[in-house]
Amino acid sequence: MIAENFHQVEAEIDAAKARRRPVVGDKDVLLVAVTKNHDVEAMREAIDAGATTVGENRIQEAVSKYDVLDRSVSWHLIGHLQTNKAKQAVRYFDLIHSVDSEHLAKALDQAAGKMNKVQDILIQVNLAKEASKSGVYREDLLALLDTIDKNMEHLHIVGLMCIAPNYEDVEECRPLFHEMYEIFSKVKEISYKTANIRYLSMGMSHDYKIAVEEGANIVRVGTAIFGARQY
Ligand SMILES: *Cc1c(COP(=O)(O)O)cnc(C)c1O
Repeated sequence: MIAENFHQVEAEIDAAKARRRPVVGDKDVLLVAVTKNHDVEAMREAIDAGATTVGENRIQEAVSKYDVLDRSVSWHLIGHLQTNKAKQAVRYFDLIHSVDSEHLAKALDQAAGKMNKVQDILIQVNLAKEASKSGVYREDLLALLDTIDKNMEHLHIVGLMCIAPNYEDVEECRPLFHEMYEIFSKVKEISYKTANIRYLSMGMSHDYKIAVEEGANIVRVGTAIFGARQY
């Protein structure tokens, strides 16, 4: 079932790519299989079906699975991160999607420095300004990018991330994804010291097709692959 679902999502991504506007083009999309609240057995099934990347939102859970999972895969942290977990985040994750403040960035930079690692990160943007969600506001984005790029040599910014509000009609996400792509395109043109903006992470199970149509090149999909999470 997981393998079938995974292939189905891959096919939907390809179909959505074909519907993109010409300016967005048909560039590759990375499918992050969101494995939070799913066990190692489910992770194995997804990886054996072709998943190259898993997404987790809690450090503790990720670490416990990391030690058991007998497969090689790239680990992405997609959830909100507290500064006291920065060290573990840097140890275990190849890409952290959820950096949204100078304070958190500093903690990650220090942790990465101690480990002699350059940590790839995305900046999470709270475009709809939802109080319940993390993310930097759009008007503060450029300043945060600049500060990290100039001062934090153990962080490497590779793109932007956003989570759309939970609209009743999923089509309502489209203008927001469109705007996010516009911001992404502008930021991509800025020349930074080390930042290399090339990823736009947006879209989850209910809205990833729209996100891909609007220009996402990373999608984070859990439920559509693994079924509903049991809490
Ligand atoms: C849980 C989660 C997802 C995946 O959600 P689904 O609806 O199960 O696809 C994607 N992104 C983030 C940030 C998440 O926390």
